[in-house]
This record gives sequence, structure tokens and C-alpha cells, in this order.
Amino acid sequence: MSQTAPSVPESAAEVPAIRLRKLTKTFGTKGLGETTAVDGVDLDIRQGEFFSMLGPSGSGKTTVLRLIAGFELPTAGTIELEGRDVSGKAPFERDVNTVFQDYALFPHMSLVDNVAYGLRVRGMAKGERRERAVEELERVQLGKFMHRRPSQLSGGQRQRVALARALVVEPKVLLLDEPLGALDLKLRQQMQLELKELQRSLGITFIFVTHDQEEALTMSDRIGVFNNGRLAQIGTAHEIYQRPLGAFVANFVGTSNLFTAEVAAGLYHRGGQFVVRPERLSVDWAGSPAVRDGVTSLPGTVTSLVYVGHATQVRVALEGGPAVVVLVGSDLPVDGSLVGSRVAVSWTDADVVWLPDAA
Ligand code: ATP
Repeated sequence: MSQTAPSVPESAAEVPAIRLRKLTKTFGTKGLGETTAVDGVDLDIRQGEFFSMLGPSGSGKTTVLRLIAGFELPTAGTIELEGRDVSGKAPFERDVNTVFQDYALFPHMSLVDNVAYGLRVRGMAKGERRERAVEELERVQLGKFMHRRPSQLSGGQRQRVALARALVVEPKVLLLDEPLGALDLKLRQQMQLELKELQRSLGITFIFVTHDQEEALTMSDRIGVFNNGRLAQIGTAHEIYQRPLGAFVANFVGTSNLFTAEVAAGLYHRGGQFVVRPERLSVDWAGSPAVRDGVTSLPGTVTSLVYVGHATQVRVALEGGPAVVVLVGSDLPVDGSLVGSRVAVSWTDADVVWLPDAA
């Protein structure tokens, strides 16, 4: 996974916004519940990129974000911001700003004062900082509410104020720590589009931490998938979903049906595990296996059906194979009448994704 530093000098545009080399963070003391939260991470994040750090709880993504912000200092390794080593620098010496999940707004201040606060700390004159704060509130469509307090806003509006407050100081990199976590699904989806649009129009680098794979797939130019303090894969949404580099990524990003090396050897006479996505499997309800070149079929028994709105998830225990989930586009009765049916499940060779980590 490591991306080696190029030996030729980089032009300004090629210098990554963030470069992490062997970044490591250990909490606690040796022998006394020591935790390696971040374990030798190498990562280049490009200028103007929307980069998401995705992973389960405890995988180290927030710690990487806090290290970039300067709220934590690395145990080992380096952090460069546009080619400048900032590993030991204080947060205010780094040209980055953070939007927190709980927004961290000042409850006693109006929106305009909340947004102007960072400029006040930087010593900007009153008139000028007010003008900049109003501009920034207008960008997030909250200009008309500038005299309100945060408690007089909805969750989504508060999130927009937090964004305006982080952006007003014009950071090179905006760090976002699960910023949509507290919003309901509909608002969250709306804010995902707004955030992406905002990032595109500003052209600054966004680093977005989330444990929601759908959110990462929707918003990001590239995604880094974390597991146990390490990067399991870096790639575009398409690469991560279609070509997972291992069983962990295949299972964490979307649903995967994993076929063990033993089953794979029986079916394809080669080593290694493979996965097939649920939408790539098809069910034959008469139980007739497909006998065509390039198609594999296994018989099985339906164990459950779940209606998920746009499709039905059918679970099938395969004979000589795993229990799989098949996504069927048509409406099926979910009253239990199909449970126990003997079916055949098929897929084509093109739908098989071999996992390199087990080859
Ligand atoms: P979440 O999605 O739950 O926030 P995460 O992937 O962001 O998880 P981190 O918060 O980076 O994970 O935590 C990684 C590991 O480091 C966890 O095991 C956590 O308990 C540990 N950890 C984080 N901060 C500290 C700390 N200040 N002291 C001790 N251990 C810590």
C-alpha cells in the first residue's frame, strides 16, 4: 500500500496537500494497556481532492485526522502539509481547520460572531471580519439568520454554521470528523450533496472521516479504508467496490458473498478466495442449474427473504458453498411461502472477484 516518494522534484501542483510517512501513534505505556491506534500509515492526499477515511469504530481514522490537525503528536513518522514538515507544530501553525461532529459552536454568540471568531483570534479588524463572516454565512445560505443563536437553528443549519466558521479562515485543508453523524438520513443525504458541491466550488482539499461506507462511496474522489490502524486499501469508490484488495475491504464496503479457498478450488481448480456481490447473483426458482460456458451454478435452499424497497434480499444456503445473499430486483412474497424452496444460484466468470490477499 505504500506510495514511495518520487526521486524527481515535484512541481507545485504535484506536491500533495498532505503527505503521511510511516505515521504511527501509540497511546498508553508499554505493558500497561498500550494501544497502537495508527500503525505506519503512508498516504498522499492530492490538492483539491475530496478524500474519505473510512473504517469501523476503533480503526484509527479519527486519530489520523487529529494528528493532521495537530491535536495529537505522532509517536513516529512525519506529516507534511504542501511539502512542509508540520509533524511537531502546534494546531495554529498548520494551515488546516476542523469541523467537529458536535459542531462546537459558542451557544451565547450570534451566528455572525461565531463565524467571525477565528478571524478575531487572528487579529482582523472588526468591520472586515464581520463582512467576511456574513459572506461565508451567505455561501451556506444562512445570511438571513446571522443574528440568531445556534439554539434557534435546526441540526442541518447548525452544521452549515460550523462549516462557515471553519472555512472563513481559508484553510488549505478542511478536516471533517463525522460531520453528518448527528443528522437524520434524509438531511444527511442532502448535506452530502451540498458538501460535495461546496468542495468542488472552493477547490480546497477535504479530508472526511466516516464509518458509513455509502457516504464515502457517494462523496469521495478517493477513499482510504482503515483496519486496525493500517490502510487496507486506497482507491476510487469504483476500485474499492469492484476490486477490493482483501476480504476485509470486500466485507466492509457493501455486502459481499465470500467463497473460501476450499470451495474455490472445487469450483475453479485454483487457489485463493473470491467474492461475488449480491446484485451479481441470480436465482432460478425451478432449481435448474445454468449449464452455459462461463456460468457457475450451485443448488441451495432459501432461508429468508427481506424486502428492502428497491429490491428483495434473498438468503440462500448453498450446497457445497457458503450462505449467500442475492439481491433480486422484482417484488417477491416475503410472507415465508418461499422459505425452504430448492433453488439454483448462478453467476458468471466476470462477476467473480479474486482476493489477492488470500491467493
Ligand atoms: P470511531 O469511528 O469510533 O471514532 P476511529 O476509527 O476513529 O473510531 P480512533 O478514535 O482513531 O478510531 O481510535 C483508534 C484506537 O485508539 C482505539 O482503540 C481507541 O480506543 C484508541 N484511542 C484513541 N484515542 C485514545 C486516547 N486518547 N487514549 C487512549 N487510547 C486512545
